[in-house]
Amino acid sequence: MGAYPCFGFASFALRSSHGGMERENITGVTKTLIVGGGIGGMAAAIALAERGVSVELIDLDPQWRVYGAGITITGPTLRAYRRLGLLDQIKAQGAITNKTRLFRFDGAHIKDLDEPVIEEGLPATGGIMRPVLHKIMQGRVRELAIPVRLGLTVSNLTESGDSVDVTFSDGSAGRYDLVVGADSVFSHMRTLAFPHMAPALPTGQGCWRISMRKPPTLDMGEFYLGHENPCGITPCSPDSIYMWMLTAHEERETFRTEQELFDDLKALLADFGGHAGWIRDTMTPADWINYRPLAAALQPRPWYTGRVVLLGDAVHATTPHLASGAGMAVESGIVLAEELARAGADVAAGLHAYQERRYPRCQDVIDSSIAVGRLQLAHGSPAEHAHILEGALDRLNQPF
Ligand SMILES: Cc1cc2nc3c(=O)[nH]c(=O)nc-3n(C[C@H](O)[C@H](O)[C@H](O)COP(=O)(O)OP(=O)(O)OC[C@H]3O[C@@H](n4cnc5c(N)ncnc54)[C@H](O)[C@@H]3O)c2cc1C
Repeated sequence: MGAYPCFGFASFALRSSHGGMERENITGVTKTLIVGGGIGGMAAAIALAERGVSVELIDLDPQWRVYGAGITITGPTLRAYRRLGLLDQIKAQGAITNKTRLFRFDGAHIKDLDEPVIEEGLPATGGIMRPVLHKIMQGRVRELAIPVRLGLTVSNLTESGDSVDVTFSDGSAGRYDLVVGADSVFSHMRTLAFPHMAPALPTGQGCWRISMRKPPTLDMGEFYLGHENPCGITPCSPDSIYMWMLTAHEERETFRTEQELFDDLKALLADFGGHAGWIRDTMTPADWINYRPLAAALQPRPWYTGRVVLLGDAVHATTPHLASGAGMAVESGIVLAEELARAGADVAAGLHAYQERRYPRCQDVIDSSIAVGRLQLAHGSPAEHAHILEGALDRLNQPF
């Protein structure tokens, strides 16, 4: 990956090259604030800076951390990361596979699924630990000399023509000609600037996850089916995996303690064989274990107002059924930069084109994911699950 200079002003260069790829610079926007330095915010920051925009990024977390789960990186997500120039690092620090193995929940092998390669030279699928992925993205943000301020959010936004005046939670202020809200599913930016939108809705399911050492004989991703609580294992490096399990969500008065998380997940795995059974028998309370109720929402258009725009879970939050939420966030960051570049001085046209290009694709992911979750809750037919998932995955493989 070649080093790439960060131009403060787009007018210095109309085209720029990165890794041999020519890119049209953005001319309508010079100074952009990204609110939220997660997967979508960092992808947008990288894509905009690479097209000559002067980007600043803020994140609420003073340590700019991410929790310790693994994440599945599907073929389309790998394709998006390749566009950001980060594929080689993900391949080196994550785990890449070309097959997924299907089992009955008790460990009986059903079949191996060949995962299609959707672009020449692109691995079929993979996984990585989230903190490793964040480090890779943070490294590129730093390489591009993007200023990052932490422990900070936006207190107030005032739009004036072609700019937005921002007051930050520490009392400082700035003027930007674009503000990108990428502050996830409970987005504060959405509440501040988009009164026509609503909070994401619970889907009735919850997701258990555990990160731990790899079962010695596991060599590809695995799914365990035919149980009311489906689960799967994703390799994340030569010696680490994460396992997920989907269950019906039950409301509780209190959060589970670490010991309760351990005991409950172990009990949920009681019927499972194969490597899922190995995990049950080998897991310890010291492993990273998490339970999270799921919520999703495709927010109604418009996704922008004046010079404020949303991306990622803030506007297209999905459930993990297609393992594509992060992929959608990265694609949205790339498409935002592409459409702003294409629109030249007409920033509103660029924001509109971004929204129209992203809406149907995110709608497909969210609708398909919610439909599969509903079927799981209703103990619906596995053939119908497979039909919805295969159709959606096939469409996701199409160019974005
Ligand atoms: C259980 C579960 C499993 C998943 N598994 C997968 C998977 O395997 N593959 C996949 O592709 N996707 C998966 N996803 C989805 C994926 O994690 C999200 O879609 C993706 O992280 C969204 O990126 P984002 O940038 O919108 O939000 P995030 O990555 O969550 O980043 C948001 C950032 O904003 C910051 N922030 C929050 N509030 C503020 C504020 N007020 N001001 C400033 N900063 C703020 C946060 O600190 C954070 O850094 C999963 C989701 C869940 C819930």
